[in-house]
Amino acid sequence: MNDPLENLTANQKKVYAALLQGGTPVKAYDLLDLLKHSGVRAPMTVYRALSELEDRGLVIRVEGTKAYLAIDTLADGTDLIVLFICQRCSSARSHSSPKLRDLVHRIRDIAGDIDFALEPGRAEIYGTCAGCRAGSPS
Ligand SMILES: [Zn+2]
Repeated sequence: MNDPLENLTANQKKVYAALLQGGTPVKAYDLLDLLKHSGVRAPMTVYRALSELEDRGLVIRVEGTKAYLAIDTLADGTDLIVLFICQRCSSARSHSSPKLRDLVHRIRDIAGDIDFALEPGRAEIYGTCAGCRAGSPS
């Protein structure tokens, strides 16, 4: 398997690092704000970097909010990303854990039982985050 981080440009690395650091979805323009001080000033630069990172599976776009979330695929070791999305504040988290890896393997098993080939992708699970349940969005 190719290393998805191989040959990233400096700007792509900056965008990915900024997203990974936050751990929550960030909109492209907010990303631009975050990166201004590190020399990334043009919206097109951010969009191009996001597009390449998406192609490599390092970043996904959360449809409802048009925000981008970094995926730590190397830590996860799976090509099925599970996203937990808050219906109230639209925050989204991906989560890697042995439990989740087990779940993905089971889904793969079930798919195999019905002769169904899974594509790399994501499962979106909707609910309410802790912050919203406590009365303020996280
Ligand atoms: Zn919430």
